[in-house]
Parts: sequence; structure tokens; C-alpha cells
Amino acid sequence: MSLEQHLSNEQLTAIAAEYGTPVYVYNADKITAQYQQLTTAFAGQQVRFFYACKALTNPHILRHVHSMGAGIDCSSINEVKLALYAGAQPGNILYTSNGIAFDEIAEAVNLGVHVNIDSLSNLEKFGARFGNSYPVGLRLRPNIMAGGNLKISTGHDKSKFGIPVDQVQQVLALVQQYNIRVNCLHIHTGSEIKDVDIFVQGIEVLFDIVPMFQHLQYIDLGGGFKVAYRKGEQVTDINELAAKVGAAFANHPNPNGQPLEVWFEPGKYMVSECGYFLASVNVLKETAAATFVGINTGFNHLIRPMFYDSYHYIKNISNPDGEPKQYAVVGNICETDTFAWDRKLNEVREGDLLLFYNAGAYGFEMSSNFNSRYKPAEVMVKDGAVTLIRRRDTFEDLLRNVEPL
Ligand SMILES: *Cc1c(COP(=O)(O)O)cnc(C)c1O
Repeated sequence: MSLEQHLSNEQLTAIAAEYGTPVYVYNADKITAQYQQLTTAFAGQQVRFFYACKALTNPHILRHVHSMGAGIDCSSINEVKLALYAGAQPGNILYTSNGIAFDEIAEAVNLGVHVNIDSLSNLEKFGARFGNSYPVGLRLRPNIMAGGNLKISTGHDKSKFGIPVDQVQQVLALVQQYNIRVNCLHIHTGSEIKDVDIFVQGIEVLFDIVPMFQHLQYIDLGGGFKVAYRKGEQVTDINELAAKVGAAFANHPNPNGQPLEVWFEPGKYMVSECGYFLASVNVLKETAAATFVGINTGFNHLIRPMFYDSYHYIKNISNPDGEPKQYAVVGNICETDTFAWDRKLNEVREGDLLLFYNAGAYGFEMSSNFNSRYKPAEVMVKDGAVTLIRRRDTFEDLLRNVEPL
């Protein structure tokens, strides 16, 4: 897989001039292209895609996503409310919970969205409150190890996520006691899964359980499709995934009736590559160990390199023909916030603009006001039109919730 840049240096430089830096820039047309790749690969299968919106929740992005016909998967009740605010219909919203208070489940039911419950405790409370009056999904833990690293693996046998499949007898006892209508079985084994057989393994685990539930309509296989962060990196082969999922379901007709619809919850896949993060070079510092490029941002704005040791491709768009040299790209936060060590960039000068790729997913969303710095602005480009979709913080934002002195 090659890394593509689908906004030009000129477009990005103009955006930096207009809105300042650091700034996140999202290309909505790339989101559309990703979604179309999914729907094309799965054409002819009963499949629905719910965008896992914790990757990027700006309501302008959510509105774009549901206008394409995709559903929205939420990780908190506030994400559910953002999806509704953006105009999504409750039937197109899914709340896959993890470790939440029962109040949020009750609220989600009142809002009329799909809900996946992830603990026996909340399932019991759900049964006691709603009985068979509202169908519900179960988030199960398949005890499969998958994902790019342990921090983003969620389905293994020490993971907090989901009801362990080995507790299915306790699930069935509650279902019987309260007459609960279980309409969906869900698993999400982790992020950055490049081996499609992991999904097939998950399906195999679920097929053992499917016959135990009388009201099933959906099998939800979660998200975790891998995209390329580096040139040549292996990604999830969506066509192979579609073929294998299709074959697995063809071999396992639902014993209790209608064909099961397959759901997916892609987050990173939908928005990672649409996004760019633009920062300016504040200072250059020559030392024996490295030439430091100090930029006007830090892990307060893009934490993935420090939190997950993630690689983000960086390009100097102000000097594309400059002689390549080795640099350490670091932030301006009072912490060690190294974006890249020993990285070859076209010669960097103070004031240059550095462009980070793959900044659409878990970029702005994981940002903070650490060091009392402002959160960056967000800009969306769609059909060539540039729109500011979140202004940069101002000093008032830092004081917004502070009681007056
Ligand atoms: C985070 C999450 C996803 C999306 O994961 P990606 O790796 O971004 O595709 C999907 N489903 C659930 C339940 C999640 O928590």
C-alpha cells in the first residue's frame, strides 16, 4: 500500500495561512471513497457499516457519514447524542457499551438506538427494567488475541471488554428469567487487524452460540480494519474479508429463521487517511545527538506517537525540493513528546509547515489542553470547498468552566 496525499501542498498551505496552525484538515471525499470500497466489496451480502465515531466525532463529519448511508457506532451516551444532533436516525445508531453505568443504557433505550450490553450485571438490570419490551445486543469476549498491540487488543482472555463467551450459560439464565429478546451478538477483537482470518475465527466462535438465541437478527463483528501508516505496510484486505465472511455465513444458515445481517464498526478505516495534521516549525536546535525540529504542537494535540509508539509519516510541504536530512521532530510541551526520531525530511527551516499523515482517526479526538494550550482548529474539505468545522480554542475556553475568582 502506498501512502497517498489527496490534498495538494498548495491547498494545505492556503488552509494554514487562513486558519493558522496547528490545524487538523479532513478530506470528506476520502471518507466517501473508503465507505464505497466497503459497500462495493460486500455488494450482495446483507451487511451494514456503523462508523465507530470515537475516532473522530466532529458533527460535520458525522453528518457527512450518515448522509452517505452509513450508521454510527457510539462508545458513550454523549456520542449517541452527537450522532442524533448530526441528524442520524435512532435506528442507524448503535451504542456498544463497555463498563458503563446502567443509567446510560436506560437513556439509550429511551432515545431508541440499538444497544450492545457488555456485562452480566447490566444485562440483569436491563432484564429487570425492560424485560422483552426492547430488543438488545450482547457484547461478547471471544478470547481471541488480535490487534496491532496489547493496548488496542480487546478480545483476549484478560481483556475487560465484553462478556466472556465461557459465561454464556449465565447469559442464557438471565435471558430466560427476564424473557430478554437478544437480537444481536457482538465481538470486537481489537484495532489494526491485518489478518482477515481473525474475523473468521470470531465468526466461528459466534456460530457455536447462535443456535442458543431465538431472536437474533444481527451479527456484529466490530471494527479494527488496518490502514497503511507507512509505505508498503500490509493492510486489511477488504475484498478477501468480504469473500471469507460471505462464505462463512453461507455455510452457517441461522437455525432459528431469517438470515442474519452482518454489522461492522470501522473507525480508523473510515477516517484515518482522510485527515492531515499541519504544524509549524518554531525552532531548530543542533545537538550532538540530533537536529531537533521543535514544532508548535505536542502530545496535547496528537498523542498516538507517544501513547502507542505509532508511526506517522511526516512531510515538509514548505520545502519539497530541499535536500533530505535526518531530524528529530519534537513538540513544545513540558514532557518528552517526540513525534519522530531519526526521520528523513526535506531540509527544514524555521517557519516551515510539517504535514502529518493518517491524522483523521484518534488525532483531534484524543487531544487535550495540557500545558494550558489551545486545542487546534478543524477544517473539512469537501468537493473542493474548505469549511472551518471547529474553531481553535481561545483563552475564554480555558476559563469556560472555572468558577469566577
Ligand atoms: C474503537 C471501536 C471500534 C473501532 O475500532 P477501529 O480500530 O478504529 O476500527 C469498533 N467497535 C468498538 C466497540 C470500538 O470500541
